[in-house]
This record gives sequence, C-alpha cells and structure tokens, in this order.
Amino acid sequence: MTTDGAPRPLPGAPFGVSDACASGPVSDGAPIVGGFCTLERVTTEPALDLPVCLACGTQYAAPRADCPICEDERQYVPRSGQQWTSLRELRAGDYTVAVEQEGPGVYGVGTRERFAIGQRALLVRAASGNVLWDCVTYLDDRLVEHLVDLGGITAIAISHPHYYTTMVDWADTFGVPLYLHERDRQWVGRPSERIRFWSGDTFALAEDLTLVNPGVHFAGGTVLHWRDGAGGKGALCTGDIVQVVPNRELVAFMYSYPNFLPERPSVVRRAADMLAGLAFDDLYGAWWNATIIGGAERVVQHAAKRYLELTVG
Ligand SMILES: [Zn+2]
Repeated sequence: MTTDGAPRPLPGAPFGVSDACASGPVSDGAPIVGGFCTLERVTTEPALDLPVCLACGTQYAAPRADCPICEDERQYVPRSGQQWTSLRELRAGDYTVAVEQEGPGVYGVGTRERFAIGQRALLVRAASGNVLWDCVTYLDDRLVEHLVDLGGITAIAISHPHYYTTMVDWADTFGVPLYLHERDRQWVGRPSERIRFWSGDTFALAEDLTLVNPGVHFAGGTVLHWRDGAGGKGALCTGDIVQVVPNRELVAFMYSYPNFLPERPSVVRRAADMLAGLAFDDLYGAWWNATIIGGAERVVQHAAKRYLELTVG
C-alpha cells in the first residue's frame, strides 16, 4: 500500500501552471507544481486523539467544553448533551469504509454506517487532478488505499463548516492544500498552514475546476463546478448549499436544515443568478446517491423560481 501522500495525477493528465494558483490567495511560498498549489508531502499521522464532536464530526485543535458548530442555530446540541470522541475511538468501532462510483469520474467517499451528520465526500477525477470535494471525519489506511488506487488527491475543497470534520488530517495525510472560503474562517476548529482561504465569488482551482460562492446556508457556502463532468456537459458538486431532495425535479435552499430555517430570498435570488452562469447537466449533493443525473441546471433554476414565488410571492 502506498500512503506517502504524494499527489498522483492521472496518467497523461496535463499539469500546467495555473494563473489562479499563482495570483490567488496562496502567498506563503508553497511550491507551485501544477494546476493546483501543492505543499511538500509530510508523513504526519492523523491526530488520533484530538477531540471530535460526536454530533457534527468536527475535530478541534484542543479539548473544549462546547462545540461552536453545534451551538449555532444551523446545527444542534443533542438532548443528551455535548459528547466527544476521537479518530482513535472511531477507528476502534465498526465503521466500514466505502468508495463507490456515483457518476462519470465521480466517486462517493465515506463510511457505512453513517457518522455524525452523515454526509459523504466526493472524489472528482478531473483532467487537471483529483479533488476531494467535502470531507468526512473517518479516515484510516483502508480509505487512503482506496483513494490512492483511484489516483490519490491533488487538492481538497469544502462546501461549508459542517463538513470541515478532520479536514486537516486529510490534508496532512495526502500532503495537499485545503481550500475554504474566507467568509467562513471563524468556524475553523483546527487551524493549519495547509488551509488556503479564497475570497470573492469564484476561484479557479484549475482550468477545468472552479469554486463558486453562492453563499446559501453559510456566508462562505461554496459549490464546485467541473467543466468536463457529465461527459463534457458539466457537473456541479454542491454539498447542501444546493440540497438534493426526494423529488428530483426540485432542490432546496435552507439556512438551517435540522431546524427548518429557510434561506433569505435575496440570497437565493443571488445564488440562482450566479448558478445560471454555469453550464452543468449533473448535480451531486451531500449524501450517498443524492444526485441529479441529467437536466440539473433546469432543475436548479426551476426550484429557485418556486422558492421565490412561495416566499416573496
Ligand atoms: Zn458539533
């Protein structure tokens, strides 16, 4: 097994130097090796004993009494009270790792049974490199091996703080940069030099991969647009910034999902306008098989129109 974390481009993948990388928020002298800015590999083990919130899966840099993510009205502290675990404890449990293809070039990454909020991450195998989109708390050698077999990871980008989880362990394990929107900086529970805060509406990770900030759910709420996804028609990875719902002719836009607080109509209108500028046919949400395969661009605009009709008339 190879777990040295060196980025592995797909065979023949072009790794041209990206202007976005050179001129973006990466300014700490990290070597630019291609379409992404890649740090030198490290061999640090995951921080197995740092505290992880049992309810939301967020890992913190030091023990603390409360979990700010769960105290926020977009999450909740369970009636049983705040409880903590650790990656070491989780590894001793019965979690089964899962890496399963969900669409062309897109693999779901996570565990069964679900842990905490229950999202799965995605490995997006773009021509410019493999992006881990979003993150999950659980990480072990088996999961790393699965991902290395698929070409490894070149960069990590995350939609919003509920999925920050053990992101620093993931970035350390694979020796890659971690892209977060700076508007959600306050929610980072474990700082790291691997974190690259980007700002503004869009950020080009590479020629074929763009981060977009519709700002639904969290101010920094981000989606990933893969130009060449869906067989060249484009794919959008959304986490729950745009939520896939049971009726695949609709999507949801919520400020708080567990507490049913709707997103502000002005934010939804702005998000719909922003997403209207992107070409995509498939959409990947936050959960296993939460996908809209084909016609997703039309569905998003239709859902936004209905949302605005029902909220502002
Ligand atoms: Zn929490």
